[in-house]
Amino acid sequence: LYRDRTEPEFLQTVHEIMVSTESLLMENPKYFDVFQRMIEPERVITFRVPWVDDNGRTHVNRGFRVQMSSTLGPYKGGLRFHPTVNLSILKFLAFEQLFKNALTGVSLGAGKGGADFDPKGKSDTEVMRFCQSFMTELCKHIGPGVDVPAGDIGVGGREIGYLYGQYKRLTGRFEGALTGKGPTWGGSHIRPEATGYGAVYFSEHMMRGAGHVKGLEGMRAAISGSGNVAQFAAEKLLDLGATPMTFSDSGGTLYCETGFTRDHLALIQDLKNNKRGRLSAIADVPEFTYLPESTPWGMSCDVAFPCATQNELKAEDAQNLVANGCMAVVEGANMPTTPEAYQCLKESGVLFGPAKAANAGGVGVSGLEMAQNSGGLSWTREEVDSQLKDMMKNIYDETSAAALRVGQPNDLRTGADVAAFLRVADAMIDQGCV
Ligand code: NDP
Repeated sequence: LYRDRTEPEFLQTVHEIMVSTESLLMENPKYFDVFQRMIEPERVITFRVPWVDDNGRTHVNRGFRVQMSSTLGPYKGGLRFHPTVNLSILKFLAFEQLFKNALTGVSLGAGKGGADFDPKGKSDTEVMRFCQSFMTELCKHIGPGVDVPAGDIGVGGREIGYLYGQYKRLTGRFEGALTGKGPTWGGSHIRPEATGYGAVYFSEHMMRGAGHVKGLEGMRAAISGSGNVAQFAAEKLLDLGATPMTFSDSGGTLYCETGFTRDHLALIQDLKNNKRGRLSAIADVPEFTYLPESTPWGMSCDVAFPCATQNELKAEDAQNLVANGCMAVVEGANMPTTPEAYQCLKESGVLFGPAKAANAGGVGVSGLEMAQNSGGLSWTREEVDSQLKDMMKNIYDETSAAALRVGQPNDLRTGADVAAFLRVADAMIDQGCV
């Protein structure tokens, strides 16, 4: 069905969905037919992004926007700035986004974009010039009701600000063309926190559903990454009485034997969000141990939250987690668990919160930001948090019910894939062969 083997990450996610929905595809020719259309993006845009550094030298990067599906609403999904960005990675992310967005219950299509630009080591003015050049082309293809990008790896509040400033300048309109905006200029409260908070809300339901009556209370959590998702997952874990034990970045892992406190977290947030430094820079704090070039998966923990990037948790890591007593893995990042690692976790009875469900809170609150923008409203922090909690509970209920319906109780990954597939596929059938 899918022949392009030059796109390994995309092939990996297509294969996962095919396995989860196999019985539906085999028994219903109409679903097989829809699946063939679903895996072809509606549109892929690639473009040149020229920019000038602080020394006056010119550089060129490649920009992308994959407009995967408008079946359920305007294209919606983040922008990633990272040197590894290519079409395979963006198509995989856009395809995952299609299923994730369907689970939120908000009217959202699916897309993903970005550039092979590395913001690390660049000055604020260089990042601004890059963002302005990127938006000069992207603005032709986005807008409220059309395509509404957000952030992802390498695109946080600073980048969204520069991108939005240029969008306004080019179109002359102040409108909801991006989400993740600042709260004083059209952004929603809780949007920065939503992916991390949502993953923790989801895992609380998952633990209770599996009979852990105290939820996450008292649990030790291994977290990877130290960016947006990792930081706010840690904050919510602390709120719920759990203890973050690790953070990581591409240089290595920071471990705290007694568990990271709120003060430690504030130190990490300042390092990452303001100073844009490496975790190795705070390795000399007496309570910390820094392990260069290693991942958090060798540490003893009760739950693991991979919150960095795709395919970061491999078979050997899964074996280590199982051997060290880990009872649940919750995906904060997109597709962080390799197929071999997933198989090992499943066979060992480890509870598994799949990314499409567990990290859907971010895009869900982006949907709430779009609703506030179109209605000229600004909801309070408490209102948005309460809607996020409801959304994550609904997603958990829907995925566990779907898992039960296809005879795989507790297999939330299959449940999420099936529930989302049916929502998108039935809508595609309703809309005819487009
Ligand atoms: P950030 O850029 O804020 O943080 C990414 C973190 O992951 C950094 O600590 C980074 O370390 C680390 N990382 C990235 N690539 C690698 C790598 N190849 N090896 C080791 N570490 C790496 O991104 P986010 O927190 O926003 O995103 C993290 C994940 O969550 C991604 O998979 C993203 O797609 C997913 N996600 C994000 C959402 C959001 O709302 N932001 C929504 C849903 C999913 P370093 O700085 O050293 O590179």
